[in-house]
Amino acid sequence: MEESKKPFCIVIHGGAGTILKSLMTEQKEKEYKSGLKAALDAGYQILEKGGSSLDAVEAAVSALEDFPLFNAGKGAVFTNKGTHEMDASIMDGSNLEAGAVSGISHVKNPVQFARVIKEKSGHVFLSGQDAENYAQTMGLKLEDDSYFYEAGRYKQWQDVKDSDSYQLDHSDKQETGEKKFGTVGAVALDMNGNISAATSTGGMTNKKYGRVGDTPMIGAGTYANNKTCAVSCTGHGEYFIRAVVAYDVSCLMEYKGLNLNDACEEVVNKKLVELGGEGGLVALDAKGNICMSFNSEGMYRGFKHSENGEQIEIYR
Ligand code: ASP
Repeated sequence: MEESKKPFCIVIHGGAGTILKSLMTEQKEKEYKSGLKAALDAGYQILEKGGSSLDAVEAAVSALEDFPLFNAGKGAVFTNKGTHEMDASIMDGSNLEAGAVSGISHVKNPVQFARVIKEKSGHVFLSGQDAENYAQTMGLKLEDDSYFYEAGRYKQWQDVKDSDSYQLDHSDKQETGEKKFGTVGAVALDMNGNISAATSTGGMTNKKYGRVGDTPMIGAGTYANNKTCAVSCTGHGEYFIRAVVAYDVSCLMEYKGLNLNDACEEVVNKKLVELGGEGGLVALDAKGNICMSFNSEGMYRGFKHSENGEQIEIYR
């Protein structure tokens, strides 16, 4: 008897928030979609050849980091000091191994560094200048400050830098009502039934005091467990940390027997909403079910599935 083919797929996001069609130009929309498509293809190509979900999420998130319109890697938002402090994490659902980093300024692809931390450092979570020194020792590609500059992000910072407020990744003046989180992330399932998750961000514009969001926190912004699900989040990090979002989705599946969709909806559209936390997530399970939940106006998102085709969406 012919062995039935195992499904494989990748799901990505490029941030959630008040992303309104009325505030988007046709040209910008095209650019965003091309960035998402390139990332989906980068991950899918690996899965198609029998590669691991871990390699696929790393490749997809690296592509999104290299794309300047998203708030991660090149194009990361500015801190209150006019610098970039990036956070990233990665997790392997087959063995619960994870790597994470926060507050680094010059590593070109923070997600690749998170993977090195997972596999080589003997630790899970590194931060700051010492972490950056370690990245250099490990041969990761470093870039000057100018590499991360993106004119739109600089303007966002100029608009708020003299205030006390830190901002979500606004791409325009606050009066327009546009509020965006441009963090990027990916979850993938490979042919061997293993799932992984990765997330990367510049955090929030004008952030101070070494602020760290949910993105590099295993269990908050990122989580993967073959038994339950792989999750990558985007949104107002303070709330995602308090709601332990990614692990909460996994727990609802593991301990309460909820399916993927119900677990995501419970956390994103109930718990987070009650707390006042805006944002969303992408998730999948080892059977190839996928979920892209958000409680904001929009979320840059897409998937490519060996059995269910490909889709890229922005608005609700
Ligand atoms: N969650 C990220 C943070 O709080 C922001 C984002 O999703 O854009 O740092």
